[in-house]
Amino acid sequence: MTGRPSVHRRRPLLALAAALAVTATLTGPVSYAATPHGPATRPSPGAPGLGDPLFPLDGNGGYTVRHYTLDFDWQAPATPFEASATIEARATQSLSRFDLDFAGNTLHTVTVNGRAASFARDGDELVVTPAAPLDDGDDFTVRVTYTADPTQTRHRDDAIEDYGWIPTPDGTVLYPQPDGAKMIFPADDHPSLRAPFTFHVTTPPGLDAVAGGRLTSRTEQPDGRVRWTYDTQQPVATQLVQLAIGHFTFVDRTGPHGLPIRDVVPDTLAASVEQYLRLTPDQLAWLERQLGPFPFDRYGVLVGDTDLGVALETQTLSLLPKGDLLGTQVDAEKNMVHELTHQWLGDSVALRTWSDLWLSEGHARYYERLYSEAHGGDSFEAAMKEAYRQHDQWRHDTGAPAEPTESNLFKKMRYDGSALVLYALRAEVGDATFQRIEQQWFARYRGKAAGTQDYVALASEVAGRDLSGFLRPWLYGAHTPPMPGHPDWVVDPVQE
Ligand SMILES: [Zn+2]
Repeated sequence: MTGRPSVHRRRPLLALAAALAVTATLTGPVSYAATPHGPATRPSPGAPGLGDPLFPLDGNGGYTVRHYTLDFDWQAPATPFEASATIEARATQSLSRFDLDFAGNTLHTVTVNGRAASFARDGDELVVTPAAPLDDGDDFTVRVTYTADPTQTRHRDDAIEDYGWIPTPDGTVLYPQPDGAKMIFPADDHPSLRAPFTFHVTTPPGLDAVAGGRLTSRTEQPDGRVRWTYDTQQPVATQLVQLAIGHFTFVDRTGPHGLPIRDVVPDTLAASVEQYLRLTPDQLAWLERQLGPFPFDRYGVLVGDTDLGVALETQTLSLLPKGDLLGTQVDAEKNMVHELTHQWLGDSVALRTWSDLWLSEGHARYYERLYSEAHGGDSFEAAMKEAYRQHDQWRHDTGAPAEPTESNLFKKMRYDGSALVLYALRAEVGDATFQRIEQQWFARYRGKAAGTQDYVALASEVAGRDLSGFLRPWLYGAHTPPMPGHPDWVVDPVQE
C-alpha cells in the first residue's frame, strides 16, 4: 500500500539521469502559468534512463509510477494475445514527453489521461508525447494496448538461461530478471523502482492463473473463460513480478505468526514435491531469527513445469523450476532458502543499482549455505575456503564483487564470491556484531533501495569503527585480501 506523500522527493538517481538527459526540442511559443504544485517551469522531456552504470537506459526520469494494472487475455503458451497496461504515475518535473521501457510485442495505442498520445519506439524506449504537457506534481494515467508475444525471450552471455516469458507445456511462468519485464509490459524497469500491481488474467476453461499478491476475484465469463484478479498490495520491482498459468494444485499452509503461505504446483508434480515444500514454515522461522520479521503479507513457492536451470525470487511467490526440487533434500532446501532469503534481501531491501547485486546474491548464498550446514548439508567453511582459493581468478575474469560489468553480472563472484565478503566481515567483527549489522541492515532499509556504500556505512556504524578500509579492498580491490582468522587460506595465482 502506498500513501500520498505530501512532499515530492526527487529520486536519488535523478542526478545521474540528468547526465543522460536528451535535448529538449520545444516547439512554438507557449506560456506556462504557475500551478498549485510550484512555480511554472518549461516542460521538458523526462530522462530516458536512470543512468544505472550497467543498464543506463533502464528506468525513466520525470515521473514516479504509483500503480500498474496489467490486463492479459491469455490464450496458449506460444500464441500472441491482446493485452493492456494502465500505469498511474505522478510527474516529478514539468513534462513535454516521457519514456517507458518496452521491448518487442505489437503496440496499438497509447493514451494519457484518456486522450490519444503520440508515441515512437527507439530500441527499448517507448517515447510518449501527451496531447498536452504535464505539470510537475500532476497525477496522470497512461494506458497502452498491445498484442503480447509470449514467446519473447532474451539471451545474456553471463546467464545460464534465456529470460522473459518461459512457456510451460500448458501455460507459462515469468523470469523478468534482470531487464526482462519490458518484454512483458511497458514498465519503469529498474530494480530500485517499485509500485503495487493489479493483474487481470483471462484464461481458457480449466486452466489456473496465479500472480504475486492476493487473489481478489475469480469470475467465469459467459464464454467459459475465467478472469482472475490478483493484487500485490505491497509495491514490487518490475524484475520481481510473477504471473503463471497452468493446471495447478494450490497448497495452503500457515507460517510464523499466522503468515499465509500458498504454494502453487503443477498437478502432476504435487505429490513429489510436497515433502520439501512443507519445510517452508520452518525455513521462515529460521530466517526470521537471522534477519528479523518476514517483510511481506504472504509467501509461497511456484513450482515451474520447466527445465529452466535457474530459480527466481519473484516477490511473495518464488519461482523454483521442478529440477530444483526433484533432487536431494539438501539441494531442494538450499534452493528454497536461497529464494526465501531474497524476500528480505533483494526484494524488500531493493538494489539501488545493478552493481549492488553482490548484496542480494551474496546474502542469499550466505544464508543458503548457513542453513544447509545446520541441516545436514556441506560445511560452510569448506565452501568459503574453496571460494577464497578461486577469488582472484573470479576477480580477474568477472570483476571485483561490487564492480561487475554488464556482461559478467550473474557470475560466481556475485554468489559464492560475495558470500565470502560477508564471511570475511563476520570473521573481522565477530559473530554477534555481524548479526547486529545484518539485522540493522534489514531493519533500516526494508521497503527501500540501498547500495554498497549504505552497507559499508551501516556496518561501520554498528561495529563502532570505520570498516571502509577493511571492506573496500574486498569489494573493489585488484586482489583478495587475507581472510581474518585463517592465515593458512591461500588464493591461487591468476591464470591469464
Ligand atoms: Zn539469488
